[in-house]
Amino acid sequence: MGHEVCVRDGAKAAGGMMRYGIPKYRLPREVLDKEIARIAELGVKFELSREVTDLAAEMKEGGFDAVFLGVGASLARRAYIPAGDAAHVLDAVTVLRSMEGEEQPLLGRRVVVYGGGNTAIDVARTAKRLGAEPLVVYRRTRERAPAHQFEIEEAIEEGVHMKWLSTIAHADEGEIRIEKMKLDESGRPVPTGEFETVSADSVVLALGQETNLKFLEGIDDLQMENGSAVVDGSMMTGCPGIFAGGDMVPGERNVTVAIGHGKRAARSIDAWLAGRPMPAAEERQPATFGCLNTWYYADAPKSVRPQLDLVRRQTTFDEVVQGLTEQTALFEARRCMSCGNCFECDNCYGVCPDNAIIKLGPGKKFRINYEYCKGCGICANECPCGAIDMVPESI
Ligand SMILES: Cc1cc2nc3c(=O)[nH]c(=O)nc-3n(C[C@H](O)[C@H](O)[C@H](O)COP(=O)(O)OP(=O)(O)OC[C@H]3O[C@@H](n4cnc5c(N)ncnc54)[C@H](O)[C@@H]3O)c2cc1C
Ligand code: SF4
Ligand code: SF4
Repeated sequence: MGHEVCVRDGAKAAGGMMRYGIPKYRLPREVLDKEIARIAELGVKFELSREVTDLAAEMKEGGFDAVFLGVGASLARRAYIPAGDAAHVLDAVTVLRSMEGEEQPLLGRRVVVYGGGNTAIDVARTAKRLGAEPLVVYRRTRERAPAHQFEIEEAIEEGVHMKWLSTIAHADEGEIRIEKMKLDESGRPVPTGEFETVSADSVVLALGQETNLKFLEGIDDLQMENGSAVVDGSMMTGCPGIFAGGDMVPGERNVTVAIGHGKRAARSIDAWLAGRPMPAAEERQPATFGCLNTWYYADAPKSVRPQLDLVRRQTTFDEVVQGLTEQTALFEARRCMSCGNCFECDNCYGVCPDNAIIKLGPGKKFRINYEYCKGCGICANECPCGAIDMVPESI
């Protein structure tokens, strides 16, 4: 789009949670480094170890015309756990972050991880690789745990122990007291009054993350809701020229969503700077299975990605589920059914009895001549991927 872009990041290296959160055995750093190098080659300037403490002052000093905030959610959510002075209680974000430093975290041998999300599982699997005996304690059942079931399964395979329906009642030096829970009629976990004591050299709290919004003090019109920045469909906050996305705005917290926000915000920033109307957020309905004609597609079983053997999974940070080769990646791309998106198979063009469909050339898709179309719906019925909608005509 031709703009000069500068990224200011408080960390020593770029990548955010992809470097300081997601463990290496799930995201090898050489892959991440190559992606970042590709962005730098486009001319984006990275200013690292450059924490922004006062956004208003920083914008003025740098003469920036627009800003995109993508500060994530890196503050560990605290929960009150009664703990003696000698208890070794840490938080998950700090433990995972320290894996990128020179010194590994001091966890001890018996590590209790408190929480049931993906971050808890990442800490437990990291601790296992460091030689510890991790135990995940979570107050709900396995089925109700927010972590992906396959990640729980992989952790169990690697030797991580789990205690479902359990809560930490007290942490002390070398041990914790766990209270068993049970589900009430509405399915909520409630205490039972039954306790057990478990050895623990450290307790790692993995209870979610929040955004540090201190640097936004003094920015008027920037509205916050439940600790997140409120943005409109163009990703702009209530403050003109200040856009935001990723984990710091409401919505799903994952890399795909954060990248999508960045892309949408870039288009909006371009329009805003040029004084054009903001591109409207696309409101497309999902293409459901029912609107596909699956028999048009050949069977193509999915590729099996190689997995590291168990012993190396337990003792190294090598990638567990390995990537695809160029050949298998191309094969996988060909399995895409292009749900809801025309892939120019020419079916509709071939079946239309009234020659109402006009080809616009490769990559340009089709136009429908409504002077000729009698609304028979054959094209929509025969489209393999559900790319054509029949809309009643308003007379
Ligand atoms: C342990 C863990 C595992 C995860 N696993 C997955 C996964 O497998 N798949 C997936 O899709 N998602 C995963 N996620 C979620 C994913 O990492 C995030 O959704 C994504 O990284 C959000 O991107 P972001 O740019 O909003 O924030 P972040 O990635 O958090 O990046 C924020 C950046 O802003 C910088 N920053 C913050 N404050 C300031 C400031 N004041 N000044 C300057 N710089 C600042 C930080 O240094 C950081 O580089 C995981 C998250 C965690 C914690
Ligand atoms: S609805 Fe019928 S006439 Fe109209 S474009 Fe489709 S196939 Fe052709
Ligand atoms: S709209 Fe459907 S049937 Fe027509 S060319 Fe595209 S994918 Fe094929």
